[in-house]
Amino acid sequence: MKKVERAKIIIKRLEELYPETSIPLDHQNDFTLLIAVLLSAQSTDKKVNELTKDLFKLAQSPKEMYELGEKEIYNHIRQLGLAKRKAENTYNLSRIIFKKYNNLIPRSFEELESLPGVGHKTASVVMSQAFGVPAFPVDTHIHRLSQRWGLTSGKSVIQTERDLKRLFPENLWNKLHLQIIYYGRDYCSARGCDGTICKLCKELYPTRNKPVICIKA
Ligand code: SF4
Repeated sequence: MKKVERAKIIIKRLEELYPETSIPLDHQNDFTLLIAVLLSAQSTDKKVNELTKDLFKLAQSPKEMYELGEKEIYNHIRQLGLAKRKAENTYNLSRIIFKKYNNLIPRSFEELESLPGVGHKTASVVMSQAFGVPAFPVDTHIHRLSQRWGLTSGKSVIQTERDLKRLFPENLWNKLHLQIIYYGRDYCSARGCDGTICKLCKELYPTRNKPVICIKA
C-alpha cells in the first residue's frame, strides 16, 4: 500500500474516533495558550492545567505576567520539570511581548521563534490553534505514530513534519495534529504496542506480525 493510501485510511479512522477536537491545554486567550504550550515541554498537559489554573487567575496578558515577576511565576510552576528555565522564559517572553509588541502576540513564525523558550513546535501550535494558520506541529507522539503508520522514516522531527505536510491536505493539518495526539494517548502509547493490535494497523498493515522499531525525537 502506498503512503498516500495509508494517509486516507488514517484520516477516515481519526475522523470516526475524533470528529471534534478540543485543545487539551486549558487557556483563556492566545497569550495563555502560548504560555501553556511553553510550560508543557517534558510535562503532562494534566499537570500544566493543574498549575496554570491559579497562575492564569493572576496573569492573563504579557503585561500582567511581566508584572507578576519571575519569582512568583516560578512559585506557581515549581512542580514542573525544568521549572526554573520555564519561569525565566515565561518572564522574559512576557516582557518582550509587552514592550516590543505592544502586549500583542506576534503572528509570524519568525517572530514567535525569536522569543525565549519558543521553538518551531511551540510556534506551530500557536499559529495553528490560536491564529488558524495551517501548521503541523510534530511532538514525540506524532513522530512515533507517523513511523508506526509508515508515513515517514523518522529520521528527524523536521523530516516527519515535511512528510506529513506532503501527505495530508493542508486544510486538515490543524485538526489532524490534535486527532493524532488524542489517538496516541488513547491507543498508541510509547509502550505496549506490538504493531498489530489495533483496527487501524490491521487495515494499514494486514500482514504485519511484529512491532515497529521507532526512532525517538
Ligand atoms: S497497533 Fe500499535 S502502532 Fe498500530 S495503532 Fe495500535 S498501538 Fe499504534
